[in-house]
Amino acid sequence: MQSFSVFVRRPVSSLPSVSASGRLKNLSRHFSTSRFAMAPISKETDFLVIGGGSGGLGAARQASRQYGVKAMIVESARLGGTCVNVGCVPKKVTFNAAAIAETIHQAKSYGFSVQETAPFDWSSFKTKRDAYIKRLNGIYERNLQNDKVEYVHGWAKLLSPNSAEITLDDGTKTVVNAKKILLAMGGRPTTPPHIAGSELGINSDGFFDIATLPKKVALVGAGYIAVEFAGMFNALGVETHLFIRYDTFLRTFDPMIQEKVVKEYERLGIHLHKRSAISSVKKDESTGKLTLDFKEGDAHGSISDVDHLIWAIGRTAQTDNAGLENSGVKLTETGHIVVDKFQNTNVENVYALGDVTGAVELTPVAIAAGRRLANRLFGPKEFEALHLDYSNIPSVVFAHPEVGSIGLTEPQAVEKYGRENLKIYNTSFTAMYYAMMEPEEKGPTSYKLICAGPEEKVVGLHIMGLGSGEMLQGFGVAVKMGATKRDFDNCVAIHPTSAEELVTLK
Ligand SMILES: Cc1cc2nc3c(=O)[nH]c(=O)nc-3n(C[C@H](O)[C@H](O)[C@H](O)COP(=O)(O)OP(=O)(O)OC[C@H]3O[C@@H](n4cnc5c(N)ncnc54)[C@H](O)[C@@H]3O)c2cc1C
Repeated sequence: MQSFSVFVRRPVSSLPSVSASGRLKNLSRHFSTSRFAMAPISKETDFLVIGGGSGGLGAARQASRQYGVKAMIVESARLGGTCVNVGCVPKKVTFNAAAIAETIHQAKSYGFSVQETAPFDWSSFKTKRDAYIKRLNGIYERNLQNDKVEYVHGWAKLLSPNSAEITLDDGTKTVVNAKKILLAMGGRPTTPPHIAGSELGINSDGFFDIATLPKKVALVGAGYIAVEFAGMFNALGVETHLFIRYDTFLRTFDPMIQEKVVKEYERLGIHLHKRSAISSVKKDESTGKLTLDFKEGDAHGSISDVDHLIWAIGRTAQTDNAGLENSGVKLTETGHIVVDKFQNTNVENVYALGDVTGAVELTPVAIAAGRRLANRLFGPKEFEALHLDYSNIPSVVFAHPEVGSIGLTEPQAVEKYGRENLKIYNTSFTAMYYAMMEPEEKGPTSYKLICAGPEEKVVGLHIMGLGSGEMLQGFGVAVKMGATKRDFDNCVAIHPTSAEELVTLK
């Protein structure tokens, strides 16, 4: 193996601070100043993976561990990518805290005399959450070592279809030639619109930097990230304002989910500003608090004393400054990398997957695509047609209550099969968990099954209520296998659960 006289810098100590917003700030976090271990960097590799997030790690580790391929992964920020550092993992830990807050409130209905003597200690919770993420970063680095993947901490920029320049943390540049290159650079929060004071807000990365429990927050966005954050803040006792452009949020989900979760958020006391748009943001320099002016329908409104404004208005593919123009890799109009079902780009031996392609933007999707690609490229002949099937991917929103969804929404099913070929089963009920509670404490549960054709094949399953996140995985297997309504009915119910309602629908 040839070696350069330059060195790979590997962060081994404290977490670099995650910047709140903007491309430049994002870049600055790529070059942290923590302590480093030194190791030589190869200048030739078989498989160069750009991006050490879910997809990149999945592909690089599979290639090296399973097939002994000489693989190198380049990551500019923290190993694990969005999911581990500013996505699924710290989000779910925060969701768990919010769920505990709800349980404490509900405990008295079951005869407990739980007294809350102080507000939730967000600061020590955050310290523990950060420490957990840091442990995960270390585990990911050790996994790479165990799987013999070369890990380079730096910024990669393509020079050609088979070479990249890597800028290390000290500014040293080196060129790596590769037989195959995988682009797995993920995405970043979309920059807010150009309105006065928009830069005073933070984005979803900045959510994880919030150091103390806010009193009042405003979120802008109708996707799952805005909805999840709003639900968590509200459950933790924060006055929460959610600004959406239309009448509902989660607009890619089934109408039943949109309608019921909106209704529940309003019932829970979240200030939902429908058909709204922020027009200006001002900061009171003495208190640091924000005042937001906005339009809501035809009216104008204003809220002040806001601790944080969080823009959660979508994600943008991380393709700039990556030298894609040097390789001829094509982008879509939305800036995502164009790939076929095998994750091939238009350039031979250059592949892309995960959020940078704009496919279903979920961690397990990126990992599955990465592992399948490695199997296809480096595995035995029977794997040469392997690719990820992007249909029937289950997804969950950690809202209050949780939402789970797989397959087609009702409008999609009508379009595909025709209304006359569908049978739709609905149920709404109060879960037994709430039996001991006062009416105002009872949360809703609603399920919908969309069945197509005379055999009533289940083509869509949408659930909302306690435990939906954990429930969906098993039902996902059934739907993926092509289960029919009769298969559901043939499965004996588990009593007393909420899930049993899905196998007893009339
Ligand atoms: C707030 C939030 C909550 C989420 N919750 C969930 C959830 O509950 N469940 C779920 O499944 N998904 C969730 N997601 C989505 C999930 O995080 C992404 O789908 C997943 O991380 C995509 O993986 P990826 O490998 O494509 O990209 P990423 O994980 O984003 O990894 C890309 C990596 O590439 C690095 N990089 C970029 N350019 C370069 C370069 N030129 N050189 C070197 N390195 C580079 C980046 O620093 C980054 O670490 C959430 C996302 C967010 C933002």
